[in-house]
Amino acid sequence: MAGTAHRTMNHYEALDVASDASQESIRTAYRAAVLRLHPDKVASQTGQKDWQRTAEFLRVQQAWEVLKDTHRRAAYNQLLVAQALQKELAVSAEVDLDDMLCHDNPIVALCTFTYPCRCGSSFTLSEADLSEDSDSALVQCQNCSLAIRVLYTVQPASSA
Ligand SMILES: [Zn+2]
Repeated sequence: MAGTAHRTMNHYEALDVASDASQESIRTAYRAAVLRLHPDKVASQTGQKDWQRTAEFLRVQQAWEVLKDTHRRAAYNQLLVAQALQKELAVSAEVDLDDMLCHDNPIVALCTFTYPCRCGSSFTLSEADLSEDSDSALVQCQNCSLAIRVLYTVQPASSA
């Protein structure tokens, strides 16, 4: 039996659908996978348990639990994007937003933060890119593949 490389499958790969597949295609793919992989079904066909298919069935089941729910799916997509970014970019440092220089942009009355990169260029982050839902942002150098993680806290807008 040929050895198979162990690699973590993401939920889309488990269901064999594109990452931008519609909810309907995901449902269809899930149903097809259940018909093919359900342990009871496999046992009745072959008269024995097929552990590889059982494992695949569990993976499909987990994927479905996340992807069937549009909110969980959206959160999962963000996680995948973040993971892909982290793999791609060499994060060279964590920088506190307070340590970045603020250049006022008079047009929009917001800061553009900059931080020097060792290549001589700089990392820039607009105040508008900060999200209340997050506490850090990955910023890539304008000139090279280095990136920094900027840590920040967004103060909730006060009703002054
Ligand atoms: Zn650079």
